[in-house]
Amino acid sequence: MKKIANRLKYYLLLATFVCITLITINNESLEGNANEEVIEEGTQSTEYSGDASIEVNGNKPTFTEDEIVDDSYEEYGDLDELGRCTVAYACVGKDLMPTEKRGSIEAVKPTGWEQKKYPGIIDSNPPYLYNRCHLIGYQLTGENDNKKNLVTGTRYMNMDGMLRYENSVTSYVKETGNHVMYRVTPDFKGDNLVCNGVNIEALSVEDGGEGICFNVYCYNVQPGVKIHYSDGTSELDRDYQANLDWTYIANKYSKKFHDPECELVADMKTNNLKFLSGTREEVIAQGYEPCTECNP
Ligand SMILES: [Zn+2]
Repeated sequence: MKKIANRLKYYLLLATFVCITLITINNESLEGNANEEVIEEGTQSTEYSGDASIEVNGNKPTFTEDEIVDDSYEEYGDLDELGRCTVAYACVGKDLMPTEKRGSIEAVKPTGWEQKKYPGIIDSNPPYLYNRCHLIGYQLTGENDNKKNLVTGTRYMNMDGMLRYENSVTSYVKETGNHVMYRVTPDFKGDNLVCNGVNIEALSVEDGGEGICFNVYCYNVQPGVKIHYSDGTSELDRDYQANLDWTYIANKYSKKFHDPECELVADMKTNNLKFLSGTREEVIAQGYEPCTECNP
């Protein structure tokens, strides 16, 4: 009898344990589902996670019935009290598109314009972090140096984020002669002078969104660089750099080597740069001399 009672106790314990485990697993999966739902609903997640842009609001633009028209126009919201762009919207038609080559926009200094070069990190020559980013791309409405339409944006946001959406609208309008409702809203957090990203919405008019229909968020980030959105200053992301195959930057001709953020590097011609791997001692052993300014 005692044996049976012991065995029963054992089964009871086992059953209790299994129950508790199941309940715990269930709760966890419930919480997991809840989180996923929030993201699916399109709450503007501004956490960059490797994609230059994400869909928001299920990729559906939010133009109201009376906003949708089939006459071309463009409007640029006034700068706010901090001098920041607010919103730019247009009904893009062929007649708004530029026929001349783009002019200079260098005279415009958008808020947070703290330009800096990142050789070895940014793939352009010179390797500038920032572009003057048109909210509504030049190819769409031909706006050149309109300060209500230009924000401080990373090369990455411009080239990897915004450009393909602008291109898709341009080709559609050129091919069909139809109109596209288009709205770009920069996402400034608090009093920040640089936006965290831009929201682009577009909807083709004559075919009710069959040709063009999207609502996306493009991140104003640059892999390899930490941006201080409050004022536009920035610094090299050392964790990112640690994964690259170089540690120092040298001048090919003078054989001086530098910390990648040394001001003397920023002044050097890209073609004169040599990227070196290894420790300080190893680099010296290869015949390079440390810069006396940055003491790498
Ligand atoms: Zn230096």
